[in-house]
Amino acid sequence: MSSVCPICADGMKPIVGMSFDSIEDVEEFYKVYAHEGGFSVRVGSRNLSTDGQIANKRFLCSRNGFNKSNDDKPDAPTKKKKKRAVKRCGCDANIYVKLGADKKYHISSFVEEHNHTLVSPDKTPFLHSNRVVSQRAKNTLFTCHKASIGTSLAYRLLQVTDGGFSTIGCTKRDLQNYYRGLREKIKNADAQLFIAQLERKKEANSAFFYDFVVDEDGKLVYVFWADATSRKNYSHFGDLVSFDATYSTNQYNMKFTPFTGVNHHMQSVFFGAGFLLNEKIESYVWLFKTFLSAMGGKAPSLIVTDEDASMKAAIASIFPDTVHRLCMWHILEKVPDKVGHSTSNDKDFWPILNACVWGSENGDEFESRWKTFITKYALERNEWMANRFAIRESWVPAYLMDIPLSGILRTTSRSESANSFFNRFIHRKLSFVEFWLRFDTALECQRQEELKEDHVSLHTTPQLSTPWAVEKQGSILYTRNVFKKFQTEVTAARDHCSVVSITPFESIKMVVINDESKRDRVVRWCTTSIFGNCSCRLFEKMGIPCRHIISVARGEKLYELPEAYILKRFQKRCKRESMYDENGNLLDEKPVDANEVEKMKKIALVRNKVEELIQHAKSSKEGMDSLVSSVMNIEASLGAVVPNTVQTRQQEYEVFIGCQIPTQIDIHPPTDVRSKGRCKRTKKSKELPKPRKRKNSSEQQPTQGTQMNQ
Ligand SMILES: [Zn+2]
Ligand SMILES: [Zn+2]
Repeated sequence: MSSVCPICADGMKPIVGMSFDSIEDVEEFYKVYAHEGGFSVRVGSRNLSTDGQIANKRFLCSRNGFNKSNDDKPDAPTKKKKKRAVKRCGCDANIYVKLGADKKYHISSFVEEHNHTLVSPDKTPFLHSNRVVSQRAKNTLFTCHKASIGTSLAYRLLQVTDGGFSTIGCTKRDLQNYYRGLREKIKNADAQLFIAQLERKKEANSAFFYDFVVDEDGKLVYVFWADATSRKNYSHFGDLVSFDATYSTNQYNMKFTPFTGVNHHMQSVFFGAGFLLNEKIESYVWLFKTFLSAMGGKAPSLIVTDEDASMKAAIASIFPDTVHRLCMWHILEKVPDKVGHSTSNDKDFWPILNACVWGSENGDEFESRWKTFITKYALERNEWMANRFAIRESWVPAYLMDIPLSGILRTTSRSESANSFFNRFIHRKLSFVEFWLRFDTALECQRQEELKEDHVSLHTTPQLSTPWAVEKQGSILYTRNVFKKFQTEVTAARDHCSVVSITPFESIKMVVINDESKRDRVVRWCTTSIFGNCSCRLFEKMGIPCRHIISVARGEKLYELPEAYILKRFQKRCKRESMYDENGNLLDEKPVDANEVEKMKKIALVRNKVEELIQHAKSSKEGMDSLVSSVMNIEASLGAVVPNTVQTRQQEYEVFIGCQIPTQIDIHPPTDVRSKGRCKRTKKSKELPKPRKRKNSSEQQPTQGTQMNQ
């Protein structure tokens, strides 16, 4: 092929003898020339002088040389190989510079001709050496990852907000490579960085709790953490705990194991979580013990889990007084697989099963409905179903009637909140560090939701639908979400309930109420304690007084309900009082550093201002020109105040993860699940950093985490 010379303005073209102050200036000059002319630059070899300076260096067209050919090697049949386009074609265009006696670099030779066609001006943004991942692209990428949005979507966001490829300045692949660089950098340090992040939290607030265990090879096998707010939430709402180990694992096959509950707004609330390398009894024992010590030794009254023999054994040994029940969602979810989809797809299948499981009010009722169901679908020989029946007392609501508030967890445990909350940032491809960034952001968002509800509950007054004092009482005390449920009962008491009969016996009155449903309800009311129970058991299950009790109280001329009916855990002000752990740490988040808050405010101010200015200026060319030149001027004057230091890629990554990437690694990530058999606990090993102890923290040696975390 005949040779081609790039076309460009005269001043841009290299001339032998041209001099430059630094090697960076040379590179910059040649790149400007190359990108104008339509080729990409490769940085060539260099030689150092005796004093360590670059003595000479070559900059070449990127199509210089030839691709290494693998054609002679046969393709391995198992390995899929990507066929890459051959880019190199032996082009010889280049410049060669030498350091002169004047300490300047001089172009000593220049080959102008290329042996290939050059890229047309509209394609030059795609030239490799012309592409950079801009600060804005990096910021968008990092922000997106914190919000659990991946690189592809981050790039699409840039495309929409910043315009096409030529304004973003890099391709999606470039952005992916940049992010891959981060994963590569943290690879071996991942577990240690995770522990360092936890340690940093603890340093910022001594009420942050964490603990971990490494095996004899220094590999992380268990970790658990709970921050101040989680511990405070547990002290308010920890009577009911849902422990769910069915979430997926991280990239090391470690199981994510969150403890959650229900707060005063009936929202799902986080108490703490761990990662476990395996599902052995001893793993769960460690986790539950650690959980218990984080929570001041207070066990929940009810724990709901999925079915797992090791977990069951561990709960029995660590929480001996806690009622353990199985999550019915987990069980019902498995039904289609166990009975066959052709059976479960029958249009009556779910209505019948749901009525049986949910609608039965006592054991007899459940058993007879179950029998009808099994017969109808010929499941008499289905072993799995038979086993579920055998363990019915551990999961069917009809048998849980005597467990206080057993209905609250069921309403949230498997439905929307907790499940979708965690699934956003737990998946098989995530490292610890990535998990932590996502988790931390998501938890903050969850708590914002609670604050928002607090605000609405405290500062708005719900509309009342009756003139009854009892409704007003509920509206004052209950949070908004709970009040809505209570209000339903109050209006039902007014509209649907009538007293059928009253049978007094000493201080007890048996009041039969008809509420226009199939069965009459009986309220057993004690006139001395001024308290009664209803056969519908709504108050026992959900903590909300039922329409029947409200009717009876009204008949008793009680215009407000006795205090015992308004559970503290549902009241607006239930979290008012301060909570402390056994070491006297206040269980609350530390106020955010005032300087940090001010900085964030200023950043937001500048961003908004720039956005406003752009909107203002963009309608005219003069306007935009004026804006551009003003902003460029700022750079010069800002440089006088703050010197502009260039961050290395590693530093950029470190700013993002908020930790220095250590060079010496003492806590290793578990490689894979096959190391399962080797997880021995070696807490006492001297070479390894000690898991942090909660007590006597003053005597404690700094862990590896503290040292690398300045
Ligand atoms: Zn070339
Ligand atoms: Zn009732």
